[in-house]
Amino acid sequence: MVYGALDIGGTKIAGALVDGAGRLLARSQRDTPAQGSAAQLMAQVTAVLDDLAARPEWTALSCLGIGSAGPVDTAAGTVSPVNIPAWRSFPLVDRVREHPRMPAEIRPVLVGDAVAMAAAEQWTGAARAVDNALCMVVSTGVGGGLILNGALHAGRSGNAGHIGHITVDQHGPLCPCGARGCVERFASGTAIAAHALESGWTPPPGVPPTAAAVADAARTGDPRAQAAFDRAGRALAAAIAATAALVELDFVVVGGGVAQAGETLFGPIRRHLADYAALDFTRDVPVVPAGLALDAGLIGAAAAGAASAGPSRAGGSTVGDSAVRS
Ligand SMILES: [Zn+2]
Repeated sequence: MVYGALDIGGTKIAGALVDGAGRLLARSQRDTPAQGSAAQLMAQVTAVLDDLAARPEWTALSCLGIGSAGPVDTAAGTVSPVNIPAWRSFPLVDRVREHPRMPAEIRPVLVGDAVAMAAAEQWTGAARAVDNALCMVVSTGVGGGLILNGALHAGRSGNAGHIGHITVDQHGPLCPCGARGCVERFASGTAIAAHALESGWTPPPGVPPTAAAVADAARTGDPRAQAAFDRAGRALAAAIAATAALVELDFVVVGGGVAQAGETLFGPIRRHLADYAALDFTRDVPVVPAGLALDAGLIGAAAAGAASAGPSRAGGSTVGDSAVRS
C-alpha cells in the first residue's frame, strides 16, 4: 500500500510516496517559480511526478493527495494560491490526473496545505489524541487547520482554519488577499524579513535577507531582529486567542519554515498569548512545535488521499477517515 502526496507551496513543490504508517518511502522537490507562468509552474509539478513515477514503489500506488497553498476549492479541484499569482482557479487536480504515468483509477484529492498539515499532526505528529487543536503553518504565508471533536474540520471548500487571513489590526497594512491587517502581513517569513530590513537590520555579507537570517540575528541579540519576531508572535498570539475563544482549543501546533526559529518565535507567541487569552477557558493553551517538521504537508496530503480511497485502503487510520470530512 503506497500513498502518493504532493505539497504545493510558495517556495517549493514537493512530492512523496508514503507508506501506511506515514513514513516517507521516496521524496522529490523542485523550486516554485512563484512569479512564473501557469505552464512553468505546472512543469515543476510534472517533474516531481516524473521522479516519483520512476520509483519502483509507484506500481503499488493506491491514492494521491495534494496539499496546496490556499485558497483552494476542493470541490472544483482548483487552486488560487495567494503567493502564486499565475494560478487562479487553476485546475490542478485535472492536470495532475493527466500525467502520463498516473494510473487511470487514481482520483487525486485536494486539500489546503494547512489542513493537510493538521491531518498529519493528528495522524503521526504532535496532535495525536487531541480533540480540539489549531495547527498553524508559518512559512512564506500563514495557514491553519482545525481539529474539532477529534475530526479534521476542512470546511465546505477545504479552507476552514485559514488563520493567516483574519484581521488582527483593523488599520494595518493591505494584504494581497484584499483585506487589511491580516496575520500573514505580520507573521509570514516574508513579513518578518521585510520588517527587520525596514528597521535597519541588514544580513551578514552573502546571506540573503530571509526570516531564518533574521532569527539568527535575533538569537545573537539584535534588537531589530527581535522586534520583528516579537511583532510576528504578537499577531499569531492574537489569532490563537481569538480561535481559543471561538472553539475552546485544547492545543496549538505551530509548524512551517519560520517555526524552525524555535524559541525566537515561540517565546513571543507565549508571552503575548498570556495577555490576549484572558478568559478562563482560553488561558494556558499549550503552544508546541509541529512534530513532523517540514514533511508534515506531504504526510498530511497522503492522509487525505488515503481517506479518499476508502476505509479498506486507509491502512486502519482513523485520521485518514476524517481527512476529507467537510
Ligand atoms: Zn489577507
